[in-house]
Amino acid sequence: ATNTQTPVIRRLEESLINRIAAGEIIHRPASALKELLENALDAGATSIKITVKDGGLKLLQIQDNGSGIRKADLPILCERFTTSKLTSFQDLSALTTYGFRGEALASISHVAHLSVVTKTKADSCAWRACYSDGVLAPPKPGLSVDPKPCAGNDGTLLTVEDLFYNTPTRLAALRSGADEYKRILDVVTNYAVHNPSIAFQCKKASCSLAGQAQTDVSTPGSATVLQAIALLYGASLSKELVHVKLDDQKAIDKDSSIWSAEAFASNPNHQSKRFTFLLFINHRLVDSSRIKRAMEAVYNGILPKGSAPFVYLSLLLDPKDVDANVHPTKREVHFLHEEAITEIIADQVQLAVTKQGTTRTFVTQT
Ligand code: ADP
Ligand code: MG
Repeated sequence: ATNTQTPVIRRLEESLINRIAAGEIIHRPASALKELLENALDAGATSIKITVKDGGLKLLQIQDNGSGIRKADLPILCERFTTSKLTSFQDLSALTTYGFRGEALASISHVAHLSVVTKTKADSCAWRACYSDGVLAPPKPGLSVDPKPCAGNDGTLLTVEDLFYNTPTRLAALRSGADEYKRILDVVTNYAVHNPSIAFQCKKASCSLAGQAQTDVSTPGSATVLQAIALLYGASLSKELVHVKLDDQKAIDKDSSIWSAEAFASNPNHQSKRFTFLLFINHRLVDSSRIKRAMEAVYNGILPKGSAPFVYLSLLLDPKDVDANVHPTKREVHFLHEEAITEIIADQVQLAVTKQGTTRTFVTQT
């Protein structure tokens, strides 16, 4: 064809469409893990155990003790846009779950081998199913695709193997298993801090029979946010945190809804090279360059050049003011009165950090 010809528009093949869509949601092992963690939390789990091999590229396994999945739902579990969490467009403005689009498991099944063992309280045994490209797949060539009864605990065990096996470009960009594992630990650590009443465990799969792999993140599931910070970021940091709590904040303007915020922010005694910022908006781990910049500005005049603080910030807003559907990975959210709310929080953190002593919180030794 010569380039004077008008290009022909063709419909992409279904499998290509799905792989492209999956790539937008599942960037790397840590994004897959975030989706699986959020599913476990949505299922009401109180214990979440994660096992990782080769930074999650070889194996990513997550065991929860949540609701389990009904056997009847297994055939459509990994189809795109199948969910138990959303039924109407209105539900989008009252979200109380992490998930709502029914895209995560579908996406993962298009770029990895996925299998599930799940048991509800009502079931007398667990069911095992394997998936490929959105649909049930045989566990081995020649075997039936039907879910098989097996032994298992209440809850769900999800196994993701050979992530990005069919997207070589993506795989090539993720060379270091060590780096990917660090990102996974980061996600688990952040959620473990924010959910201190849930027991988290994350470890590498042990390679030899003799060596029991060490557990890299482990929380008891009966602590406070501050105790979880002490456990995961160190007791010395936790002693240098000021607690800021803003309850029932009213009226940015007369129609606006009530919001609240809680923060643990380091005082000037704590100085680190990198800014550690844990931000949760309605329990969702998110990035916000606006809020991050505001926090950095707070410490600009307080810390010497080149040192950075630790800030944990949890913001609770009326779900109807929050739009979680602006980003494929939900890593960003938009909310009403972003500027005004950010300013109020930054002012309060500044006040507490500079006047620390009055609001200082100590971890009680247990
Ligand atoms: P979403 O979370 O947006 O609904 P997913 O693709 O992540 O979409 O999951 C699809 C459905 O599978 C969920 O709505 C839920 O019903 C079920 N599910 C997934 N993971 C779990 C789990 N760990 N425990 C119980 N149910 C699960
Ligand atoms: Mg989900």
